[in-house]
Amino acid sequence: MKEFDTIILGGGPAGFSAGIYAARGALSTAIIDINMLGGQPSNYLELENYPGYPHIGGFDLMEKFEEHADKFGVEKFPMQEIEKIDLISNPKLIKTKEEEFRAKTVIIATGAQPMKLGVPGEKEYVGRGVSYCAVCDGAFYRDKTVAVVGGGNSAVEEAMYLTKFANKVYIIHRRDALRADKIVQQRAFNNPKIEFVWDSVVKEITGHELVEKVVIENVKTHEISELDTNGVFPYIGIVPNIDFINGQVEQDKGGFIITDETMKTSVDGVYAVGDVRHTPLRQVITAAADGAIGAVYAVKYVEEVVTAPSH
Ligand code: NAP
Repeated sequence: MKEFDTIILGGGPAGFSAGIYAARGALSTAIIDINMLGGQPSNYLELENYPGYPHIGGFDLMEKFEEHADKFGVEKFPMQEIEKIDLISNPKLIKTKEEEFRAKTVIIATGAQPMKLGVPGEKEYVGRGVSYCAVCDGAFYRDKTVAVVGGGNSAVEEAMYLTKFANKVYIIHRRDALRADKIVQQRAFNNPKIEFVWDSVVKEITGHELVEKVVIENVKTHEISELDTNGVFPYIGIVPNIDFINGQVEQDKGGFIITDETMKTSVDGVYAVGDVRHTPLRQVITAAADGAIGAVYAVKYVEEVVTAPSH
């Protein structure tokens, strides 16, 4: 069994930042991740909005975060899936297939992932025409046709981004009005490369080696039709990575963890930071900022509550 003052679940920007602040606050600190460390930004081709780095590869930035956490002695446990977790007990218990951990505090930084359409062909064509990241994969669709699914800010903004490369971008939306902000909508309506497919849902993604078509259903007429496309980019929202939590902390209706301004969850000694929490902006910079706040309050918790002398 391994014991730490704080265990951080998730090694993305929020987790590394929390690790750096916790370790500098003299807590023995570990990061556990189900995957390799680096989180979502490791897949971003380039970031242009992380201050101090006008252009940096996502992988490169996360490598710097990791080196920084290493420097302060944060222990790392990648590729460990949580089998059991008890956040209510003190110390907290985390069990993976490989190890059993105990910690005075837990900082949840497991991030979020794109919501899936859940239609035949989606899983099969990931990396062969289905992508959840226009910034990562847009350049593969130069002079081609792509279909974006969804009507929110992400769908419409990413569709606009894809027009830099593709000749034609369909936006397939299940209603006849967009959810995206009006100014974003107006830009899309004015873009000659974008064609809207209203009141429609994707039923199937088909092709051979690569994606060739999407099968769509008009939800009003129930008419089924096909659109020729080389790529499908679902942008229908994101879901937090919280399967392992089993409702032990309070969540909003989308499943995102509710925190106060110190990143504390509904459970004492448990903090949530970054994309996994209920927050108005999900960016590397906000995740890193959350990590700093959560870790500082985890340090205070250990000092004031867990190790305070009893009277
Ligand atoms: P969102 O605002 O929740 O929009 C999701 C879209 O997908 C909606 O249009 C929804 O349709 C559609 N949808 C949901 N489930 C679907 C399904 N199963 N099949 C087909 N369509 C489905 O999600 P988002 O665009 O990812 O944005 C998330 C948050 O980040 C929002 O608050 C957004 O404003 C914010 N954001 C802001 C910016 C910015 O300010 N620059 C950029 C990106 C995102 P309905 O409209 O019918 O519900």
